[in-house]
Amino acid sequence: MTHRTRQLLQRLGENNISAFYADTGREAFAMVMAMIPERSVVGFGDSLTLRQIGVVEALEDGDYTFLNPWRPGTSVDENVRLKKRALTADVFVTGTNALTLDGKIVNVDGHGNRVAAMLFGPGKVIIVAGVNKIVENVDAALRRIREKTAPLNVRRHPDLDPAPPCGETGVCSDCSSPWRICNKTVIIEREYSNSKYKPIITVIVVGEELGL
Ligand code: SF4
Repeated sequence: MTHRTRQLLQRLGENNISAFYADTGREAFAMVMAMIPERSVVGFGDSLTLRQIGVVEALEDGDYTFLNPWRPGTSVDENVRLKKRALTADVFVTGTNALTLDGKIVNVDGHGNRVAAMLFGPGKVIIVAGVNKIVENVDAALRRIREKTAPLNVRRHPDLDPAPPCGETGVCSDCSSPWRICNKTVIIEREYSNSKYKPIITVIVVGEELGL
């Protein structure tokens, strides 16, 4: 584990966010699945990282009620219904756009379902991120999202019609596209940890490059 990753894990812990390290995607997969009891209702924030390490396939095939709004053939109404139901799931699994060295979790959403579920509602939120998501601070996180993540994400969704311009130009023009994917920005700074309310977020940092 690098010094940078160790610092991140420590700062997440100080912010009352459980943080673990996995050397590989395979190890992270095992950790995530061990945290999800069978027969759980599991919400999903869409995540290339979770697809890459095999969590999505395992949840689809296993003994879970997996609320996947992006299952092929899902209607728009059903997509919205599954996103709403995920807000009160037993477990919500997702990736993230960026983790800052001082232990903050930074995300930008188009629809807002992912950031909403990360904030409050599910019994447990599990976030998996490759080391490529670690950045210096919130400014660097927001820059990374606009300059790298969003354009790549637009390209990953050829169904967005008309597509936001950054998909083609690779540059953010602060667009007003009907499919703008940078509508809702959420920065999680800390979690409650007191006699009444327990923290719900666990972050697993993987020592590999994953996702966008
Ligand atoms: S605001 Fe528009 S152009 Fe800028 S990154 Fe987001 S989707 Fe792309």
